[in-house]
Amino acid sequence: MTDRSFRSILTGSFSTPCAENPTVVMMEAGYAKAGIDARYINCDVKPAHLADAIAGAKAMEWAGFNCSIPHKIAVIEHLDDLAESARIIGAVNCVQIRDGKLTGNNTDGKGFLASLRKLTDPKDKTVFLLGAGGAARAIAVELALAGARHITIANRSIEKAQAIADLLAKNTRCSADAQAWPEGLHIPEGTDILINATSIGLGNRDALPPIETDSLGNATIVADVIPNPPMTKLLREAKAQGCKTLDGLGMLVNQGIIGAELVVGATLSAEIMEKTLADIFGVQD
Ligand code: NDP
Repeated sequence: MTDRSFRSILTGSFSTPCAENPTVVMMEAGYAKAGIDARYINCDVKPAHLADAIAGAKAMEWAGFNCSIPHKIAVIEHLDDLAESARIIGAVNCVQIRDGKLTGNNTDGKGFLASLRKLTDPKDKTVFLLGAGGAARAIAVELALAGARHITIANRSIEKAQAIADLLAKNTRCSADAQAWPEGLHIPEGTDILINATSIGLGNRDALPPIETDSLGNATIVADVIPNPPMTKLLREAKAQGCKTLDGLGMLVNQGIIGAELVVGATLSAEIMEKTLADIFGVQD
């Protein structure tokens, strides 16, 4: 018989070492505000120890865990079930444990989508996606499942962009194409949503994806996945062109909220989680 009366619900993340983990602080602030007796613990799990770590989480009756690079693909062989988008994306970052059964989800793209929906519904929209890594793949799949009309993926190595376009063609009704990324990339007229899903801008407020920012029309919503610093150079340039913008903090917060709904079955406060991250990242109002 399970007796949780003497301890908190255990959740956490299997990741690589990190001195200060903003996600841990954000999740625990969310749990505390919601009055949930749960902990979120960051564990440094080496690839060779992933199976043991999962067995440990099951043995300790964790409610679930997140996993980051390098575990997002390797974790799949240890799961009992996969949510639809995680199956299409081929990567899992959130695992729910119920009665010893493990279900894999991918909340990266879902977090982005929840954040985007505050500005617009992606249904029938034309999207231009910069980058073709894990975040871009997850975002592309969720936007396609949400009814986006067309997604163009631009990446330095066009093969990775083409692989995402092929994935969408095979698994969704959204049309997609891939293109190479020359210096000074022109953003086509009629683009409803431009998304930077590269790592350009992470930890560097002056780094700008090499696009022609003058080509941005003011009807284009410009989103960045970079959570820190949230007001990236791309977003500042887009604002100057009159575009509405969306930062990566919202994606991170919403991903945490969706994960908590799956793992502990509670809706956490976006406000307190956003404030916690903004404090950590030193964001000025
Ligand atoms: P990956 O390493 O899988 O992909 C990185 C992408 O960035 C690739 O497409 C890569 O292109 C591109 N890239 C990197 N440097 C350059 C450059 N100088 N010029 C052009 N393209 C470049 O990383 P992820 O997809 O996992 O993560 C991407 C970013 O998303 C990270 O910064 C991460 O912090 C952020 N992220 C934010 C989340 C949030 O909640 N806000 C959640 C998840 C991720 P190429 O393939 O040619 O190398």
